[in-house]
Amino acid sequence: MKIAVAKGDGIGPEIMEAVLKIFEANKVPLEYEVVDMGKWVFDKGFSNGMTPEAQQTIESLGMLFKGPMETPKGKGVKSVNVTARKTWNTFANKRVFQTLHGVDTVFSKAGIPIDITVVRENIEDTYGGIEHMLTHDVALSRRFITRPGSMQVIRYAFEMAKQKKAKRISCGHKANIMKLTDGLFLDCFYEVAKEYPELKADDIIVDDLCMKLVTRPDTFDVVVLTNLQGDIVSDLCAGLVGGLGFAPSANVGDHISIFEAVHGTAPDIAGKNIANPTALLLSGISMLQHLGLTENAAIIENALLYTLESGVHTGDFGDKSKASVNTTEFANAIIGNFGKQPAHNPKPVFPNQPGTPTPFKLKENAMMESKEVGNENIVGVDMFIESNEQPLAIATKCQRHAGVKFKLVNISNRGTQVWPTGSVYTNLVNVYNVRFESLDGEPLNQQDILGLYVSLSGNFKIASSELLNMWGDKKAYSVAAGQ
Ligand code: NAD
Repeated sequence: MKIAVAKGDGIGPEIMEAVLKIFEANKVPLEYEVVDMGKWVFDKGFSNGMTPEAQQTIESLGMLFKGPMETPKGKGVKSVNVTARKTWNTFANKRVFQTLHGVDTVFSKAGIPIDITVVRENIEDTYGGIEHMLTHDVALSRRFITRPGSMQVIRYAFEMAKQKKAKRISCGHKANIMKLTDGLFLDCFYEVAKEYPELKADDIIVDDLCMKLVTRPDTFDVVVLTNLQGDIVSDLCAGLVGGLGFAPSANVGDHISIFEAVHGTAPDIAGKNIANPTALLLSGISMLQHLGLTENAAIIENALLYTLESGVHTGDFGDKSKASVNTTEFANAIIGNFGKQPAHNPKPVFPNQPGTPTPFKLKENAMMESKEVGNENIVGVDMFIESNEQPLAIATKCQRHAGVKFKLVNISNRGTQVWPTGSVYTNLVNVYNVRFESLDGEPLNQQDILGLYVSLSGNFKIASSELLNMWGDKKAYSVAAGQ
């Protein structure tokens, strides 16, 4: 089997060299094709941080093992790490956090074992980076949560939990506030849960989840979350087991997967051969498991656990009274421990069963359609207008534009209703959401909305607008606080 390897920037080449040396010493049956990605590729003028040849190679091999990469500072340049994950639809980000003996934490010292797998949605949410300044004072970020995207990652999480023989799978969310976006994710979770009756499925509000993770981490098993919440929660979990130096990451897709460490390029220690390669090695072990190279994965993981238990450490962790080793010496120590069993959590060694690569040359982009909703009607529109006038003055002007088709229903500012009722203590910014609905309750069409748009634009700059849809008797939009 051949995989693509991108060494990365900063400490990337050093830790990648250490990991590939361990693979080679263990006779891992893989060939590597090194691809050009990272800061120097940006610097050469490739705006997405990879050469077209690199993209072609990764798309034809389906597997990328990558070191950390630097995102050049400045606007207009997107992170190559995020671009890679999104372009190739690696919809599930799996991060495994487990107690490593030899890596002291408050929990290991207290004898509280941790084995948590966080599955984070990897494409959607605010990570779409779809942002606009509506006025000089007001920035808007669009948060896309989709049903097909949520189903894809949640299905992966359940299947992985089943294979791992997990006892519990939890959905972290904020559906009490974001009823439509997080609510959709949560609905998908319970829909998929029905297919896995053997797993205990529950949900937990993300702030409560954070509190419980730091007080009772041993009660969690698999946790699945949307992108941003998953990003934060997984770094929190990294802290529970010793920090980012011990946090591996798998970005799994249907066709292409990317395995990498969670940490960055560590420019402060780059080029010194002192970086800790554990996170990248754990990512590599997870990649070997993914490829069916279970024997190599288990032997290397047992050697790593044995090495950590015996107190060998790089400068960033471990017993400070014992001298640290450098990156190369750390890799050599692991190689010297092949075949040894750690005292804690030894991994069972199963013979390799390499998966047969299936041809997956795609001819066109996959459209992930979900269930059709019948009886869909437009019943109104939210107009986001720029104004620094008082709510009553805006209402008076807007009512003039409502015409025979619309009625002005309410006005809100930053999601809080300020007209027809509200409080003078609500501070305002210069973008209002003016909600118009159908006057007689009859469905509207897009021409009606455009007519209102044109009329309203005589008085206001319209910064943005959203249709209000009804699906049967269900509102497909939120109401303002206080409405
Ligand atoms: P960082 O993770 O690179 O470093 C944070 C701290 O942790 C530093 O003190 C560093 O020395 C230490 N550290 C990190 N990895 C280590 C290791 N393996 N061994 C020992 N110490 C380690 O985070 P940062 O400084 O915020 O980011 C630096 C660059 O990395 C930025 O350009 C950022 O965009 C990029 N980055 C890339 C990825 C990725 O490729 N997936 C992830 C995060 C950050």
